[in-house]
Amino acid sequence: MKPKDVIQFAKDHDCKFVDLKFIDLPGIWQHTTIPASRLTEDMFEEGIGFDGSSVRGWQPINASDMSMTPDPTTAKIDPFHAQKTLSLICKISDPVTGQPYGRDPRYIAQKAENHVRATGIADTTFFGPEAEFFVFDSVRYDNSPRGAFYEIDSDEAVWNTGKAGPNLGHKIRHKEGYFPVSPTDSLGDVRGDMMTTLIESGVSVEVGHHEVASAGQCEIGVRFDKLTTMADTLMWFKYVVKNVAKRHNKTATFMPKPLFGDNGSGMHCHQSLWKDGKPLFAGDGYAGLSDIGLWYIGGILKHAKALAALTNPTTNSYRRLVPGYEAPVNLAYSSRNRSAAIRIPVAAGNSPKGRRIEVRFPDASCNPYLAFAAMMMAGLDGIQNRIDPGDPLDKDIYALSPEELKEVPKCPGSLDEALTALERDHEFLLRGDVFTRDIIHTWIEYKRERELDAVRLRPVPYEFFLYYDT
Ligand code: GLU
Ligand code: MG
Ligand code: MG
Repeated sequence: MKPKDVIQFAKDHDCKFVDLKFIDLPGIWQHTTIPASRLTEDMFEEGIGFDGSSVRGWQPINASDMSMTPDPTTAKIDPFHAQKTLSLICKISDPVTGQPYGRDPRYIAQKAENHVRATGIADTTFFGPEAEFFVFDSVRYDNSPRGAFYEIDSDEAVWNTGKAGPNLGHKIRHKEGYFPVSPTDSLGDVRGDMMTTLIESGVSVEVGHHEVASAGQCEIGVRFDKLTTMADTLMWFKYVVKNVAKRHNKTATFMPKPLFGDNGSGMHCHQSLWKDGKPLFAGDGYAGLSDIGLWYIGGILKHAKALAALTNPTTNSYRRLVPGYEAPVNLAYSSRNRSAAIRIPVAAGNSPKGRRIEVRFPDASCNPYLAFAAMMMAGLDGIQNRIDPGDPLDKDIYALSPEELKEVPKCPGSLDEALTALERDHEFLLRGDVFTRDIIHTWIEYKRERELDAVRLRPVPYEFFLYYDT
């Protein structure tokens, strides 16, 4: 839609308000609301001002004025407001120079798309993220600075607390929640409501199902799209999932590992490059891949440890990347093997058009604009430098002998390790000025101070069990 179409769209829907959204550095949507009467064609040029110093990871207080300008192509009706509201995603710029703001993650994603076109290698980058999530009845945690304890009520726990009534003799058996019909699956209607809301807002929903974790883990698959558009859609997806859960008096979380001893939530990212309407990953090499596809894998595997600082950027991410829960630990690739960090799925009908790779280590605690852009830059480095991905690992990696396993490089074991890897290995992200040194430096500093140290310095509940009596 063009600005004048958006204004007409708002009128046709009798919108009272326009909600302007943008993403902060760690990856949470922020918003401000204006009366619909303020939505003029000028607004799409000039935007509105706001205080950038209060946004996480952004401007210092002495240079705080920034402006947000809506992108007309992102217009949707926002279904979570009592009064009819139009939603628009904004770009951020400096009101003095009019230049786009270098720490706006969406701008980095757009630069990544422009960069791949400028290289002449491809004109389109497709991403298909599969964001898994948990739905709980309630989560209680002490979020004071001293906070440490939390408590989760999952489907399974409800019977134990008696909250949903007496135990009627039926309880989901541990690890058997994937994916029997109701009443074992009690979230069908919640997912149905999520899917309907997504479809009504123009998202192409492909499938919805319970996931492998015992109670409350779900997945809703949506159709792939171009890099920045897909990151926009993913933000919308998370917004819908969380708000629909709330409507059902439940809470949804994309936190990668909320439950000890059960599967975590990943966000596998399917990706492919195209040029002139042709799929560049299709060929006659391993698993139907072209050299370009294999080199792209080579680039992702080479930079995987640094990438993890952006694709798995929370302390909790590394509680998921452990053996035994379908999350990858080993940096290897394989066709169809779900225990490898990169899988080459067999497309329906085995068509070249569906030829893509699935990167399995990312999770949805990432900022999708940064994560997608970084993976594409790593893949591009692989293509430009013809990086050989080595031999595929077609065995179940979890079943390899200790000697064989030692040879396989590993995903980082902690956020600390990933940030250190990014500190050492980020030149590939700076090409074409896609990422800047400033954003890399700010990211590492933010994550170390605000998250890594914040977790490292607190006693955790299990330490009381281990050490209270020492
Ligand atoms: N939940 C698993 C993960 O953490 C993935 C399960 C699947 O293959 O869909 O990556
Ligand atoms: Mg899944
Ligand atoms: Mg998958």
